Amino acid sequence: MMQRHLQGVGMTSQRTRDRMIHRLSEQGIIDERILTIMRTTPRHIFIDEALASRAYEDTALPIGYYQTISQPYIVARMTELLFENKPTMSNVLEIGTGCGYQTAILAQLADSVYSVERLLPLQKKAKAHTELLKLRNIRYLHSDGGWGWEDYAPYDGILVAAAPNDIPQALLEQLVVGGVMVIPVANQEDGTQALKRITRTESSFHIEEVEPVSFVPFLSGKE
Ligand code: SAH
Repeated sequence: MMQRHLQGVGMTSQRTRDRMIHRLSEQGIIDERILTIMRTTPRHIFIDEALASRAYEDTALPIGYYQTISQPYIVARMTELLFENKPTMSNVLEIGTGCGYQTAILAQLADSVYSVERLLPLQKKAKAHTELLKLRNIRYLHSDGGWGWEDYAPYDGILVAAAPNDIPQALLEQLVVGGVMVIPVANQEDGTQALKRITRTESSFHIEEVEPVSFVPFLSGKE
């Protein structure tokens, strides 16, 4: 039963997943490592049963508590940007665990993943999901990600899945020199969001603006 659940049937079968991968490459994702990992990671187990048949559509889906699982393209794109110039990372900090799907992808690329979520029930679900996949190199923290996670800093990579108005200072400080952060940043004036990639240099930060995106807001405090 468990095996069948992981493998999926019908709309969650390997064939449906293969179609998602085909779509991702059409959308410009070229990193074969990421495509392979997304082909073999069952996205449907991260989503409530009632929505599982839509798990491999290129869309964000509700995961409860007014939050959404990021659409496959965004997960692939952010992961690709993170690893593009730094293919091996010993530690990655993720802010906004949500259901844990992006966490599971990162855990198959980096030696260790540290993931911070402000909503405890979501964090518990994420933990159960990644345990089901036997991913053991992930640590979770229930906290406001605006503080980062000092204990394991500095990080080779930081990936943020909610959009703040300004890049939190603590996250910049917890990036190693040469490290990369991928983060959506909201423009308060017109309400738009831009995905940014920040690379820490010896003396400052190199910022690239990648593309417009639409994320849930980065909120302070924990619940
Ligand atoms: N990658 C996740 C995205 C979930 S949506 C997934 O695919 O499931 C973004 C998540 O960021 C939500 O779970 C939300 O609760 C969380 N979040 C928002 N602001 C946060 C903050 N300051 N610290 C930690 N998590 C935050």
